[in-house]
Amino acid sequence: MAQFQSWLHIFYQRLFPFTDFYRWLAYGEMSKGYFANREWSFTLASDVYIRFQSYKTADELKSEILRLCPVKIDIGAVYNIAPKDKKTVGPSAFRPRERELVFDIDMTDYDDIRTCCSGAEICLKCWDFMTISIKILHRALTEDFGFKHLLWVYSGRRGVHCWVADERARSMSPEARSAVVAYLEVVKGGYHQRGQGDEDPMDERNFHPSLVRAYAVLKKHFAKTILLNMDVLGSREHWMKLLQLVPDHEMRTRLDKEWTDETPDSDSGTTSEERWNRIVGELRGKKGAAFETADRAIIFRYTYPRLDANVSIGLNHLLKAPFCVHPKTGRVCVPIDPTQCDTFNPLTVPTIQSLLDELNAWSAKNNNPSYIEAENYQKTSLEPYVKYFRQGFLDPMASEVRQRMRERVDMSF
Ligand SMILES: [Zn+2]
Repeated sequence: MAQFQSWLHIFYQRLFPFTDFYRWLAYGEMSKGYFANREWSFTLASDVYIRFQSYKTADELKSEILRLCPVKIDIGAVYNIAPKDKKTVGPSAFRPRERELVFDIDMTDYDDIRTCCSGAEICLKCWDFMTISIKILHRALTEDFGFKHLLWVYSGRRGVHCWVADERARSMSPEARSAVVAYLEVVKGGYHQRGQGDEDPMDERNFHPSLVRAYAVLKKHFAKTILLNMDVLGSREHWMKLLQLVPDHEMRTRLDKEWTDETPDSDSGTTSEERWNRIVGELRGKKGAAFETADRAIIFRYTYPRLDANVSIGLNHLLKAPFCVHPKTGRVCVPIDPTQCDTFNPLTVPTIQSLLDELNAWSAKNNNPSYIEAENYQKTSLEPYVKYFRQGFLDPMASEVRQRMRERVDMSF
């Protein structure tokens, strides 16, 4: 632990992109005190948890983080006053004002359908669930809601976060956030667990255009992720879960018996794909609305993003800052370019140890004092991630802020 702490200190000193954080969270200081009224909270190595910290500048933030050397940094809301002055006013006079619209997707919510790993474990097979989530939510948030400034981040262990930073998203009320979540949350605590009388989103009348577009993506991933990689119809434990979603008792018991009777290790054993095609074929041959949409409902149940709604709705919820180091894995919480999410590999992202090794290797090789110093991150494999953070997220936002400022000036004449 002591060694991790000393590594962390060097990481914050030399690699953590404080000025980029300022650039991000000040949002061009379009509104005064935006950075200074932001809540920061820290988890220390001793498990002490400090909330409601706030800083005026990137330097102030950096020196405090170097002093505390937190194992986790969380970002909260922008309040009406600086959070560090919270105690100087009554509780009712301290209110969260704005916050990015955020989403948190955690692999443990997929434990009922994962066949490869469980709990905190992940592998490339189940990482697909995160890739699918990024694709589906990114499309819906940009096309259906028109948001432009989304930052996707690997949580460092087994999930992803999304920060929607558009001005319109930041100023949304909890009610508006709730409405967005309700729109996106097709599979709430398990699609089939919806209450009686609740609308069935799979019903033809409710299957809105956004779901039609999502379905096109989900169908492709279902074949690869669920049938091939997860092989969900390959073992009784897992096919029983899927068969539960088939709305026909006779079919469920018959297929279960048939598959159980097959010798699992013989060459004649059918694959999950063949078994799935069999289910779909039989459903097609039956009459009734429930049968027509049953295969679609199963595909949604198995692949549609599972959101932690509370994180998205509450204004004062905290979310781990990008570029933190996960204390258990040592991996850095790096941004993910959604257009490249298919090739993102969480198991090969830089770790704190690999980055410090790279810094040392660079110094050993470049000991010529006349050499113009590169920024530290450029000496390491953190470079593409910092570059994406700047060029893919901060630059487009800055040009929008400039555009807004011009509009304001124009209007004042
Ligand atoms: Zn796995």
